[in-house]
Amino acid sequence: MGKIVLLDDNLSNKIAAGEVVERPASVVKELVENAIDAGSSVIEIFIEEAGLKSIRIIDNGEGIAPDDMLNAFERHATSKIMNENDLFRIRTLGFRGEALPSIASVSRVEVKSSTGEGIGSRLVIEGGKILKHEGSDSRKGTDFKVENIFFNTPARLKYLKSETTELGTIIDVANRLAISHPEISFRLISNGRELLKTAGNGNIQQVFSTIYGIEIAKKVIPFKGSSLDFEIEGLIGLPEVTRASRNYMTILVNGRYVKNFFISKAILDAYHTLLPINRYPYVLLSVKLDPYLVDVNVHPSKMEVRLSKESELMELVTKTIKEKLQSQTLIPTGVSTSKGQKKVNEQQSFRFNSGSKPPQAIVDYFNEISSNKSESINLSMPLREENFSETNKEFKLQNSSFEEIKSLDYITNGNDVYKDESVDSINDGKVQAYTLEHNLDQTESAIPPMYLIGQLHGTYLLAQNENGLFIIDQHAAQERMKYEFYKIKISEVEQEFQDLLLPITLTYSTDDFIRINDLRKTLEGIGVFLEEFGGNSFIVRATPTWFPKGDEQVLLEELIEQVLTNKKADIGKIREESAIMMSCKASIKANRHLRQDEMQQLLDDLRLTTDPFTCPHGRPIIVQFSQYEIEKMFKRVM
Ligand code: ADP
Ligand code: MG
Repeated sequence: MGKIVLLDDNLSNKIAAGEVVERPASVVKELVENAIDAGSSVIEIFIEEAGLKSIRIIDNGEGIAPDDMLNAFERHATSKIMNENDLFRIRTLGFRGEALPSIASVSRVEVKSSTGEGIGSRLVIEGGKILKHEGSDSRKGTDFKVENIFFNTPARLKYLKSETTELGTIIDVANRLAISHPEISFRLISNGRELLKTAGNGNIQQVFSTIYGIEIAKKVIPFKGSSLDFEIEGLIGLPEVTRASRNYMTILVNGRYVKNFFISKAILDAYHTLLPINRYPYVLLSVKLDPYLVDVNVHPSKMEVRLSKESELMELVTKTIKEKLQSQTLIPTGVSTSKGQKKVNEQQSFRFNSGSKPPQAIVDYFNEISSNKSESINLSMPLREENFSETNKEFKLQNSSFEEIKSLDYITNGNDVYKDESVDSINDGKVQAYTLEHNLDQTESAIPPMYLIGQLHGTYLLAQNENGLFIIDQHAAQERMKYEFYKIKISEVEQEFQDLLLPITLTYSTDDFIRINDLRKTLEGIGVFLEEFGGNSFIVRATPTWFPKGDEQVLLEELIEQVLTNKKADIGKIREESAIMMSCKASIKANRHLRQDEMQQLLDDLRLTTDPFTCPHGRPIIVQFSQYEIEKMFKRVM
């Protein structure tokens, strides 16, 4: 006897529900998509207890005819495709006919609908069983209520995250649906509180502003482009407003929100170096194409699509956005040109001028130094030459090893370096600002003292001692030092705080705002104190003194992003990751010429670290050629 049986409908619906109805937000997505497909102009979403108690979607679309009502809940029952051909020309969001039976199999559903002609109908289903089917009023549209979701699938219920997380996901889904359809008026009400309301007047910039806030909406520009097969349009954020996650990039393909690696990459390519490392822009990109060129039947939740002529689209996206960005003035307001990019003659033409306002780079440096000494400095007071040379003393090298190398004749200008007044050299003094405080005995270090030979390609330091030749990656070395520095600082229980001259406001989308609010305790543990500031904003008035000056906002955003992604991950891990992140941010990059004293300091400081061999990412810092190896290479020994 064979042992294969055909599963009954109810069971196969439950199985399908596993894919389609993952959590309350997926119910919202499916039902709102149905309302959109029904041609609604007003869609209202009511949520109780993050959807766990109830989800109700009311639309004014074409409605379901009474004699279609039961069919709508059959498996693979859809009004959106008729035959195989249609499968390749999908213009609607739904087409698989799976959502309603899946939802009805794992909850209690009550739906009232009418086409506006004649009377409507009402259906109640619980766990896939029809409880009631009767006539109803004739208001055109559909009123769909889902209660007690997952009441009969306890495993799924258990798997759900906290109410805050689930609500966050629902808001995220609603935001994306609203931005995909600016011509529809959306409202999202959670436990009686209105969390989203769009006008439905087709103005996409207005929807954008509702979701991300007016300040961000002011910093996005519209763009448009087309090729033979594609039409694209949308909004791109100026590079001065970036986020630490890709979540603020929204891609729509024929009005469907999708995730697509290649299109994201094409967008990021257009920004190229305009974005700092690990920062992402605000982007809304809507692609229109012949439905024949896109396969939406790749995944049950239809979040992924497969595109023909992908490379043509990528090219179009990159080119259009790049041109738009190039046509803009991209120097952000209130921030000076970044260091290291200034031309040499600009640096050298600068001289201190008592009483005049110092350039930003110097203010930054001065702040950094003073913060490390835990002194505060009045920025509104012009910096004086005398003040500056006071600080300049910091440049003095205390290590005796310097005395030793000075005596070696390949070091030139050893005494002159401190007199250099160019902006560049002052700036370069940053190297010392992070010097580790421990006072290690020379013998305690994992590596013996090394004496500088010079710098290779602005990237590696060459050094020697009796053991041979050392090549040191300057970026990796500094990353290691700063990593250890920050690790100590971040874990200090009694953190010292410094008031910010200008408090920083951080604005989030409603879903992120709610999630972040929930994680405030965790954030406080790493020195991030957020105060609610109205309209999805937080204000930060003070930061721990170890925060590098000038980068506070970026750092705060990044720390928040980390806590968001790690959620309840242990504080130790977050601290560790924060230290890695900050060490990388603040470290000197390759291709940067350092002064002799800076190089030697780097070598000496490296010896103070507990692990001088690898950077926090695990890459090597030092490569050694032993005396023996060198002699072997030259065949002086065999
Ligand atoms: P699909 O959307 O893939 O067709 P669903 O199970 O989501 O499958 O819905 C089944 C059918 O029920 C739809 O094809 C549509 O005809 C009808 N329907 C569902 N929701 C609505 C609605 N809000 N307004 C009008 N018709 C609806
Ligand atoms: Mg559907």
